[in-house]
Amino acid sequence: MSISIKKAERIKQLPPYLFAEIDRLKREVAARGIDLINLGIGDPDTPTPPHIVARLREAAGNPANHRYPDYEGLPSFRQAAAGWMRERYGLTVDPATEVVSLIGSKEGIANMAVAFVDHDDVVLVPDPGYPVYHIGTSFNGGVTYRLPLRRENGFLPDLAAVPTDVARRAKLLWLNYPNNPTSAVAPRAFFAEAIRFATRHNVIICHDAAYAEIYFGDRPPSLLELPGGREVGIEFHSLSKTFNMTGWRVVFAVGHPDVIAGLGKVKTNVDSGVFQAVQEAGIAALSGDYAIVERLRAMYRERREVLVRGLADLGLVCDPPAGTFYVWVPMPRGQTAAGFAMRCLTEAGVVVTPGNGFGEAGEGYIRLTLCSPTERLREAVERLRGLGL
Ligand SMILES: *Cc1c(COP(=O)(O)O)cnc(C)c1O
Repeated sequence: MSISIKKAERIKQLPPYLFAEIDRLKREVAARGIDLINLGIGDPDTPTPPHIVARLREAAGNPANHRYPDYEGLPSFRQAAAGWMRERYGLTVDPATEVVSLIGSKEGIANMAVAFVDHDDVVLVPDPGYPVYHIGTSFNGGVTYRLPLRRENGFLPDLAAVPTDVARRAKLLWLNYPNNPTSAVAPRAFFAEAIRFATRHNVIICHDAAYAEIYFGDRPPSLLELPGGREVGIEFHSLSKTFNMTGWRVVFAVGHPDVIAGLGKVKTNVDSGVFQAVQEAGIAALSGDYAIVERLRAMYRERREVLVRGLADLGLVCDPPAGTFYVWVPMPRGQTAAGFAMRCLTEAGVVVTPGNGFGEAGEGYIRLTLCSPTERLREAVERLRGLGL
């Protein structure tokens, strides 16, 4: 006889999965034989560059890599990460104390709360935003305080509007620029303001820079290059989107040594780091041909023109993305994000993501991704034309 299985409260308290209905409809539409155009997933459609793959093949054959890795990352991987920060931002960081390797930013984001959030501590989280900031907080007994990102503020949080008692209880402030899902980029002046806020209230800034290399104007700043940035926080640099390596799970965090040490402490206790052969492939990425990153930027830029123009032609006018591979589109008057997404799927076979799936403040928007070739984006626009918006 089976025992009765009761899930932990933290699992029961997970927010309802907003995309479940879309997933069900997706299967239903696909079963009707309709060729779905998926502009819902944020995962690069082009392959990992061949020299990175070759490096993994070679490293996988080396028995020295068949053992448990150092939990904090190979010294050579951390050096390559430091080299990247020097090359990109002109920063000198100590690979031994200011860099840690992670099994994806997602892992690091979730583990930040393990390392730094006690029961009832507040974590400041952008809304709309990457769901893991809140999930990590709630799994560890913290309290999420949402910072709405609104178009009239350039999709930047209004830190001055955070009540003093909330700021006083806050442990972490999550930021993410270039931003998923709004595609906004934050100016240096905003980071300067965030650093002042963090210093005044003793809050750790965690900057998720997953899209640091996907931008269409000036290069977005690093938190760490601003005066005082290194004293108040860390930054997550993912190889996932930069080098088409989402499946590889190799990333680094860089910044304040005490914060890096805290994250490292969690990792010694719950995982044993990244497979060394994958770290070697990461070294090949970080210290290899930078032209690759430029080519990807150019590819997304072309797709962005096609989609943004095509949508405008349908009357769906949006701000062209400043960065990331997302397009954040306000809804026609009177339509909810979910209702509109449903119509795109069932009537046009185009998958889009309703903005409120990233938080309440995302209502009124849908998110489309640029992770499909231009022909597919053009076809998606033609199909949406059929909806007669
Ligand atoms: C894709 C994404 C990540 C996850 O990156 P990994 O390094 O692959 O875990 C983190 N943050 C944001 C905002 C993302 O969109």
